[in-house]
Amino acid sequence: MKRRVIMLWVLFAAAAGVAQETGPVLKPLTIIRAGSLIDGVSNSVRRNLVLTVRGNVITEVADAGSANIPAGATVIDLSQATVLPGLIDAHTHIFLQGEVPSEGGYDIQLLKYPLAFRAARATVSARRALEQGFTTLRDMETEGAGYGDVGIKMAIEGGHIPGPRLFVSTRAISTTGGYPLEGYAPEIEVPKGVQIIDGPVEARKAARAQLEHGADWIKVYMTHRSWLGKNGELVSQPTLTVEELRPIVDETHGWGKKVACHAYSGEGLQRALDGGCDSIEHGLVLTDAQIAQMIRQGTWLCATLSVYYGDWAPADTPEGQRDRKREAEHEVSFRKAVKAGVKIAFGTDMGGIPWTQPIAQEFPRMVELGMTPMQAIQSATSRAAELLDRKGKLGVIAPGAYADLVAVAGDPLENVKLLENVGFVMKDGKVFKNDLEPKR
Ligand SMILES: [Zn+2]
Repeated sequence: MKRRVIMLWVLFAAAAGVAQETGPVLKPLTIIRAGSLIDGVSNSVRRNLVLTVRGNVITEVADAGSANIPAGATVIDLSQATVLPGLIDAHTHIFLQGEVPSEGGYDIQLLKYPLAFRAARATVSARRALEQGFTTLRDMETEGAGYGDVGIKMAIEGGHIPGPRLFVSTRAISTTGGYPLEGYAPEIEVPKGVQIIDGPVEARKAARAQLEHGADWIKVYMTHRSWLGKNGELVSQPTLTVEELRPIVDETHGWGKKVACHAYSGEGLQRALDGGCDSIEHGLVLTDAQIAQMIRQGTWLCATLSVYYGDWAPADTPEGQRDRKREAEHEVSFRKAVKAGVKIAFGTDMGGIPWTQPIAQEFPRMVELGMTPMQAIQSATSRAAELLDRKGKLGVIAPGAYADLVAVAGDPLENVKLLENVGFVMKDGKVFKNDLEPKR
């Protein structure tokens, strides 16, 4: 055994000697020919470019005519395609699978599935996102799967499984009466999909525990049930008080991180804004005053439109009427927010939507409700990167940014639905999918 160690040392020393003679080993060089380029920031499209990728970083973006292709570089020909930054979905749940009622809905996830089963399925969700060109996700809590998202993130970062860059929020926070599981006999203790707190001390402690165990974001549910009020208006049950939210925001900001607030409407949404939330999730009913407050405070809106468009209860039931009202109000609020210039990041609530469906279905919804295709694309690239405090590193094709790139055949500004068919995916300088290069 000892002799083998010595032998290995001799071999290592010899290898090091060779390296010394030829200089430092350079990171692999990849050249990408881009027919059209949407860089994530600029409002104009550039044509016929050459992108230089060294290791996992973009080092140069140059006109094809002026670029020189160094010998030994790997060349990827996307000259017939539109190249964009890797897409970002700022609201997903990799630990949910659509909560299909025929498969037991939400409750079965927490009551019957071993955590390893849920984690195994979460790896499939992550891979599905990457296949569709979503190279970054802000995952908005594990729904009872504890710190499972931290583990999935470790597995992706360690190269054990394929997946997007994950910004995780672990357990999330709500109050007593503020989250499922619900409807069981009061004598039975059932698990909850979030960490339940009551009072400012418990609130701060929960944030501390989640941050300690790896949360990149803290997710707070500021509203819970919703129904139609006596005048047919959408009413949402508020959860945390401002006094409970403030210590969470204070603690999280102290760690240099941010707070996302699930908020539908009314008092709970108002408390989210007054408590200093960094992003409003869903925001079904936004009053003019609330929109003005969001602009003043720089609050982001992550609207997740698509998830409210389908899966409605029958029209003649109270739930069915509520579901239709949610969608109708959401549409009005989103249009107003776009017009007023609220900062908007692309988010879908995938997981609430089965992962078998296209993530990019959100783009045409956003365009339908007042965004230009370019604005919608930027909401899933540079704008979402800004939300994640990764400006210049993610969501942009420029020197110094990570080499997260996707490409589609055709012009997504003409038909934003083309983003449902991403044919090329590179993450961190490594090609994950390439169906677009012309066959030689
Ligand atoms: Zn969600």
